[in-house]
Amino acid sequence: MAQKLIHICEVCGKAVIMTPEQAFNEGWDYPPKMGSFGVISPRTCGDCNMTKTLWWALVQEKKKIEELSPGQLVVLKRIQNEPASITP
Ligand SMILES: [Zn+2]
Repeated sequence: MAQKLIHICEVCGKAVIMTPEQAFNEGWDYPPKMGSFGVISPRTCGDCNMTKTLWWALVQEKKKIEELSPGQLVVLKRIQNEPASITP
């Protein structure tokens, strides 16, 4: 997949438009290389770890949707609408 996508780190907020290959080489966890579009998993840059991700809150901390922060809900909606939501 050579199409560029907007890679948005859900922890630090960094956003970079690049191909999945470039993102992977820079240490990002991002579909389609890591995880799948539309499925909740960490979306992080190479500098951030997964303990502050939506995935961590839901799976490790067992939070319910109504317990999420506004920022986490934005991430949830963005993930659910991938890849359209991250297409430049
Ligand atoms: Zn980051």
